[in-house]
Amino acid sequence: SKTSDKLSAFLKSGIYRFENSNVVFIDPVRMLNRSYTRFRFSPSAYYSRFFDSKETIETSNSKKRKRMDKKVPHELNEREQAATLRHQQVRPMLLKAHELLMEATDLLAIMKGLRGDSNICSSTESSEHHSFIELGKVWQAPLYEIILKAAWKGLERVVPVFNNLVVNEASDDMEAEFLNKKYIMPRESCFYMSDLGQIHNLIHECNAGFNLIVIDPPWENGSARQKLRYPTLPNWYFLSLPIKQLAHPDGALVALWMTNREKLHNFVQKELFPSWGVSHEATYYWLKVKADGSLISDLDLFHHRPYECLLLGYFHGQGTNSKQPPRLRPIKHDQIIISIPGEYSRKPPIGELLLEHVTHFKPARCIELFAREMTAGWTSWGNEPLHFQESTYFARD
Ligand code: SAM
Repeated sequence: SKTSDKLSAFLKSGIYRFENSNVVFIDPVRMLNRSYTRFRFSPSAYYSRFFDSKETIETSNSKKRKRMDKKVPHELNEREQAATLRHQQVRPMLLKAHELLMEATDLLAIMKGLRGDSNICSSTESSEHHSFIELGKVWQAPLYEIILKAAWKGLERVVPVFNNLVVNEASDDMEAEFLNKKYIMPRESCFYMSDLGQIHNLIHECNAGFNLIVIDPPWENGSARQKLRYPTLPNWYFLSLPIKQLAHPDGALVALWMTNREKLHNFVQKELFPSWGVSHEATYYWLKVKADGSLISDLDLFHHRPYECLLLGYFHGQGTNSKQPPRLRPIKHDQIIISIPGEYSRKPPIGELLLEHVTHFKPARCIELFAREMTAGWTSWGNEPLHFQESTYFARD
């Protein structure tokens, strides 16, 4: 039947499209696994949260927060009013999307099993990871090397791990070793691990010309109570991101992850996109659900929305005016991507969904900025792009 066809397609691709709608449900594990030939991403390592029905969102003192949220309607300042208005505008669409999910009983049944039955979690939380952020700052950083192990035994290459373009040109996964830990690099992928201060070196080393640029900046969060697992930067730092130099001269699709702070929306629309030469074209919403399909928090909770925005824009290429570049397909507005979140602040892999809009560049050249992982065919830049590549996140086939 039609539904079972769709489900088997989902089990292969990790993408479930709801018919006649702008809504997709994705399984990040299945999508990530398309990057690998010999290795498999472990579902229990990815889905470290939201599978226990008792689980609630991480709030430091949620009782107090709830009380504060109740008070909000009485004392909204101008910015909060704008934020509320923005929320009210997308609310019906998000509710509709969530209804679609709750009606798809066959899909819901599969969702519960996405983590697999292994409660023997590979304990990635408890095992010690290397802190690339810290290692990159020490004076020995330029001396740190990574050992790349080609599929043929004995063939090893030793290259600097920081401030260096590290490439796996092979059409197969590559294992690498760094300070006694193993990392997996997907086929035809590369990373450049550096601080933002050195990002300009990347442009020369990878001969730029990217058609798709995905950016997930370490935005400041405002609430000091929220413990972040990485350093953040003030907004003005991102004005200096060399988007123009990284983008293909004929144009590029730029996708920017946002937080729900109203101040940030203003900054991006009025300052950041204009300074990059990017025009805002559409907004995607990532709706976060638990394994049972319920939203991870109340839709109307002011400080803990169960969704995040991804702003899509065009870099129009050099010397063109405001006309839409001929080689980029127009983006359908307001897509909604539903998934069960992985680790704290980890974003779902949306690259493949975005590539539908860059069909005229073949193969499209893609880069992720502030990445914590690698993707086959992509360049990853950030101060810890190897983070989720550690072998403890993988299970061998
Ligand atoms: N998209 C990632 C994911 O799904 O896992 C999360 C990215 S997180 C929002 C931002 C990243 O920027 C973190 O890995 C953080 O360490 C990195 N970062 C913070 N300050 C940086 C700097 N000065 N230079 C380079 N990267 C930085």
